[in-house]
Amino acid sequence: MTHEVPKLPYAYNALEPYIDEKTMMIHHDKHHAAYVAKLNAALEKHSNLQNRPAEDLLKDLSAIPEDIRTAIKNHGGGHANHSFFWALLKKDVKCSGEIEKAITKTFGGFDKFKEQFSAAAANQFGSGWAWLVANKGKLEIISTPNQDSPLSQGKTPIVGIDVWEHAYYLKYQNRRPEYIEAFFNVINWDKVNENLKKAK
Ligand code: MN
Repeated sequence: MTHEVPKLPYAYNALEPYIDEKTMMIHHDKHHAAYVAKLNAALEKHSNLQNRPAEDLLKDLSAIPEDIRTAIKNHGGGHANHSFFWALLKKDVKCSGEIEKAITKTFGGFDKFKEQFSAAAANQFGSGWAWLVANKGKLEIISTPNQDSPLSQGKTPIVGIDVWEHAYYLKYQNRRPEYIEAFFNVINWDKVNENLKKAK
């Protein structure tokens, strides 16, 4: 088995005007594809690991042979994070159901959650991600550098935002906070509820 970039479950322009078509094309077709190519190249040296989903490999990096461990962390992380991200996005879905209750219980309301999540995304220095994760049944907000996956910390991603410049620079240039604000219009809360259910 070789890893493949999953097809986008919507058109490149489906998230306009919040995330523009050209960014989606380059981000999905070029950046994600490069992570997958490099992940596959790394796994050629260890064919016994080729059938394992990237998420599995990331859950126990210490079990990965040392000569490809960094490559799996970076490119396996890049593959898993982006696959998660595409599936998370859809315009104009309301936050409701179990996730709304859990957010209110944990953060004291949606606005407080949004504020804390946005701060984590804005303050991640350099490239990386901000996440809402489930950690032993509890929700928490974290950020990770580069393509480091929450799975490698034993945490399950529920919501994630890519804050690498390639995710927003064409439309927002240096205005990362505007991109973060826009991201809140394209979170598919139905999918987030699925992620929460699976984490339990
Ligand atoms: Mn990216």
